[in-house]
Amino acid sequence: MEEGETMNRNSDLPGGPHQMRWGGRKEIEEERIDEILELIWTLRERGISDLYQLLEAGKDLEAKSILRVMIRDDLFDVEGNRVILKERGEEKAREIIRRHRLTERLLSEIFEMSEEEVEQEACKLEHILSPGVTESVCTFLGHPPTCIHGKPIPRGECCAKFKKEMKPLVIPLEELGLGEEGRIVFIAPRSHQRLDRLSVLGIVPGSILRMHQKNPSYVLQIGETTLALDGEVVRDIYVKKVKD
Ligand SMILES: [Zn+2]
Ligand SMILES: [Zn+2]
Repeated sequence: MEEGETMNRNSDLPGGPHQMRWGGRKEIEEERIDEILELIWTLRERGISDLYQLLEAGKDLEAKSILRVMIRDDLFDVEGNRVILKERGEEKAREIIRRHRLTERLLSEIFEMSEEEVEQEACKLEHILSPGVTESVCTFLGHPPTCIHGKPIPRGECCAKFKKEMKPLVIPLEELGLGEEGRIVFIAPRSHQRLDRLSVLGIVPGSILRMHQKNPSYVLQIGETTLALDGEVVRDIYVKKVKD
């Protein structure tokens, strides 16, 4: 890097030339804490809460010193070998997981990125999305219940009280009006078996469904085929309205 370049960049920064705005010590520590909280959460989903397994799974060589900081900050406790999130840690972890999984959905369904790209980007964005943006993304995606790997997305405030200021782009299939068409964006099934059954019927992301009837049961058209579907199945399917 040339000297002139450095000087220019510094003078462009608001609030004086020597303020570290990105990648400072504090940010790096914050990110590492986030990573460990995320790991504690995902291991717990798999039924693991052992401290040594946590240290092994983490790639952070300085994990031990970070863990000390985290205990000091009241994020978790260790009982025997068991790692137990405290209220603050639980809340923080929940938010990180929520940001990560929502970002996965956004990048994969809306920006159609490959799974590999999605993972890389989600790991970066989970640290920087503000609460407001996170709510907007969730609303935009129609409050998806799961990530692209089928893991639950922790609910946010926006999921409980429906926000009217922002129209979701992706809506649950059941909200499609009679005679309207929707392109399937994603399916969040509660079982893999069900996903297989749906794909046999041609119900896969990308295909277009037309809503014929909602009551007493759902009748939908896909291509030339008319299908009757259970409400339970319909609730797993998310679509984007097709404008004629
Ligand atoms: Zn995921
Ligand atoms: Zn939501």
